Amino acid sequence: MTTIVVFVEQNSGQPVRASLECIGAARAAGGSVVAVVTGAGAENAAAALGKSGAGKVVCLTGATQHSPDALARDCAGVVQELGAKAFLAAATATGKDVAPRVAALLDVTILSDVTTLANAGGAFNATRAWLGGKALANLGSSGAVFVATTRPNAFAALENGGTAEVVKKNASTDGKAVVTAIEAKKGGKLDVKEAPVVVSGGRGMKGPENWNLIEDLAAAFGNAATGASRAVVDSGWRPHGEQVGQTGKTVAPQLYIAVGISGAIQHLAGMRTSKVIVAINKDAEAPIFKVADYGIVGDAMEVLPALTKAVKDLKAQK
Ligand SMILES: Cc1cc2nc3c(=O)[nH]c(=O)nc-3n(C[C@H](O)[C@H](O)[C@H](O)COP(=O)(O)OP(=O)(O)OC[C@H]3O[C@@H](n4cnc5c(N)ncnc54)[C@H](O)[C@@H]3O)c2cc1C
Repeated sequence: MTTIVVFVEQNSGQPVRASLECIGAARAAGGSVVAVVTGAGAENAAAALGKSGAGKVVCLTGATQHSPDALARDCAGVVQELGAKAFLAAATATGKDVAPRVAALLDVTILSDVTTLANAGGAFNATRAWLGGKALANLGSSGAVFVATTRPNAFAALENGGTAEVVKKNASTDGKAVVTAIEAKKGGKLDVKEAPVVVSGGRGMKGPENWNLIEDLAAAFGNAATGASRAVVDSGWRPHGEQVGQTGKTVAPQLYIAVGISGAIQHLAGMRTSKVIVAINKDAEAPIFKVADYGIVGDAMEVLPALTKAVKDLKAQK
């Protein structure tokens, strides 16, 4: 079986979902997965990774601060030591910081933000969006090791794996770049990149005073994050961390609800690979309807409360 090394992020001992999906991608591609996990709580996370499909976990211990270059050296070391054919990380802020450094250390190319992964006897292929999602490119790599980041929500996480052998290793502590502080987002809301449901608002919401309608619908789902178009972020109605699109975040949730968003190409670039797209817009000719699976032509101020009630009623029936 082809060995694939997967860098796993964790928060307080819980592996993040995007990393579990990355293991799922590796397993679906027929790989035998060696997960690399680091940071405070890594040992707790290591114990949970077998269930998600890792056969072995390398637990890097002893690093008091996160350093992407030191971590990349450790990951590249594991790849070389095991003769692994591929290295994967989730396309999160940390994964995007570490994986290119690993590729550089291994002197190979990197395919970023891939949405499919296939492996034929160690020859990997992956799909990634080009031209803001208008084209999908199927790419391989001729390097000795295939390095890629996987788009969150594009792959399924495994939930019924087995148990993993856990090996401890001293983490490198001589990194040149060191993260000195991480600020937790206020309110503990789901991140727009990771949530399975995203309710996004655009200029059609008229102003920040109406955002409670977006938040109410997100809350009714229970597992939704709120997103926004750039027009909204530029107007200061919502923080940049919620912006979806070319100059914001790329999301691929199970369900994306675009409310009062026209569907400019730069917005589509960030959400068109969502599994199901619902558009609510009072203009039946709005471009967003061209990519939508379901469309509601109507005033968001009326449609949103009705939709929120419908979701709540459905949940109450369960
Ligand atoms: C280099 C570059 C990068 C960019 N990056 C991004 C990006 O990352 N993300 C992004 O989103 N944009 C980005 N943009 C901006 C993009 O081109 C659009 O200007 C922006 O997406 C428009 O936002 P919007 O759809 O909210 O607003 P608008 O285009 O103004 O659309 C508002 C929509 O709301 C509808 N509407 C109005 N009232 C109601 C109502 N009561 N009920 C229902 N519908 C209603 C209207 O019919 C309209 O379709 C970028 C642009 C450039 C040039």
